[in-house]
Amino acid sequence: MYRSHTCGELRESDINKMVTLSGWVQTIRDKGFVIWVDLRDRYGITQLVFDEDRSFSVLLEQARSLGREFVIQVSGNVIERASKNPNIPTGTIEILVTELIVLNESLLPPFTIEDKTDGGEDIRMKYRYLDIRRNPVKNNLIFRSKVAMEVRKYLSEQGFIEVETPYLIKSTPEGARDFVVPSRMNKGQFYALPQSPQTFKQLLMVGGMDKYFQIVKCFRDEDLRADRQPEFTQIDCEMAFVGQEDILNAFEGLTKHLLKEIKGVDYTNAFPRMTYDDAMATYGNDKPDIRFGMEFGELNAVTQHKDFGVFNKAELVIGIAVPEANSYTRKEIDKLVDWVKRPQVGALGMIYSRCNDDGTYKSSVDKFYDQDDLAKWAGITGAKPGDLICVLSGDKNRVRTQLSALRMELAERLGLRDPEEFAPLWIVDFPLLELDEETGHYHAMHHPFTSPKPGQLGLLDSDPGAVKANAYDLVLNGNEIGGGSIRIHDKDLQSTMFKHLGFTPEEAKAQFGFLMDAFQYGAPPHGGIAFGLDRLVAILGGQETIRDFIAFPKNNSGRDVMIDAPAPIDEEQLKELNLKLDL
Ligand code: ASP
Repeated sequence: MYRSHTCGELRESDINKMVTLSGWVQTIRDKGFVIWVDLRDRYGITQLVFDEDRSFSVLLEQARSLGREFVIQVSGNVIERASKNPNIPTGTIEILVTELIVLNESLLPPFTIEDKTDGGEDIRMKYRYLDIRRNPVKNNLIFRSKVAMEVRKYLSEQGFIEVETPYLIKSTPEGARDFVVPSRMNKGQFYALPQSPQTFKQLLMVGGMDKYFQIVKCFRDEDLRADRQPEFTQIDCEMAFVGQEDILNAFEGLTKHLLKEIKGVDYTNAFPRMTYDDAMATYGNDKPDIRFGMEFGELNAVTQHKDFGVFNKAELVIGIAVPEANSYTRKEIDKLVDWVKRPQVGALGMIYSRCNDDGTYKSSVDKFYDQDDLAKWAGITGAKPGDLICVLSGDKNRVRTQLSALRMELAERLGLRDPEEFAPLWIVDFPLLELDEETGHYHAMHHPFTSPKPGQLGLLDSDPGAVKANAYDLVLNGNEIGGGSIRIHDKDLQSTMFKHLGFTPEEAKAQFGFLMDAFQYGAPPHGGIAFGLDRLVAILGGQETIRDFIAFPKNNSGRDVMIDAPAPIDEEQLKELNLKLDL
């Protein structure tokens, strides 16, 4: 028996018990006549003591030869600790060791296995198994497991069945490139790894499963924007005989359950809802953070009647009232102007108006706008004395994105993004199609299986960009945590959609023939949603990066630096797969 207890378990009530513990050596303090060793496992830390009066001298010698991260097994008596440590649950006791066995030695770890380590990101990733011994990472993994467990518990109680779907499939279009896998047995042919189980879950509905979920890996070969992973985990769900309202209710239920069980937050109200168009007009963003205000005010009507050319020629003039920011110095405002002019934001400049405490205004365009004008700006943006109004102008879509970036930046600086506050929001009525500015073609904003709003089909030819979809996203604190849609379940409508997305009937048949075939055998109306588990867990955990919640994440170049993947394969393997490299 390696252990009778874990390193987090023993308390004062265990005093005088003979116990056996196993774990890693965290620290050794050698005072000459007495040696203390902190022994660590997943459950905690227990102090071991070896001393001249009470232990055999060979035992002291043995203890002295231990090193950090050695794996040891000790037996001994639980005794009361002279100087108690109130910071850890085992802090009132220690083990007077009578037997010590070294189970395995350890090289000196390349960084300290402490909450605050001296190891940088790269080295921690290379030795991730050591990193996982540290509380911050270990606790995140335990937290993630708890969230996943609650998801399974809740959905099973609601009658959902967890079904696995294959990883070696044919491409599923979710807007990214596929990772492909060559097939040895089928020369010259490739599987694709699923970007999501989308078509399979729809086929499960045709198969009568009614309520499906799966915690599942998805693979997307995209250029890695910050904090994305090429393989990530979804809570993937689908239901039959449902409309949008049913799905929103079902998954609002799941989200409330998680907030309650994981965070102790009792969110009893219905989640607010906002249309995509309103979100874009009010926040310049389809995943607005509504924990704070700073809503956009449209200022065209109150700015475009004077001689200020910049505003006059702009498609849109919009501003936000930044709370209690009128004390920003000229220099600070200049810095803000530089910030919006950075290439990542791309604004040409920024106009501001200070709302003085006495109710007057002082703007950077006083030459063009008098106090009455500026009062109107304040009225529209909701600015109060003490605030600073920041105004951007230009092309509608661009300027909204720019002001959204500024809004988020200022909220961050002003500390308005409290990680312990949770503000869920449904975004509904997404456009069905999105124009790709480069190619001039429309593609599905969500995916090609999403149904248009009833009665809008006629617009597909005349004004494709105006067609709205039965598609929705769940946003939490400015992050999209889930998205889904009511699907097309009619073969003809699905063919029409493929046509509008630029597929010839032959291409559609080759790629999605299986789905259209299935739709001819009694496909029920159905719809679903998928949550990004990594992101959801990170937000619930009050942290920014999903990497910290993934046991073995990839870096920004899509590499696993621990196992050193991706890596070349040998000639023999290439030959077997009938592949030739052309590098
Ligand atoms: N398959 C979709 C996605 O991965 C989710 C859904 O429509 O259910 O975003």
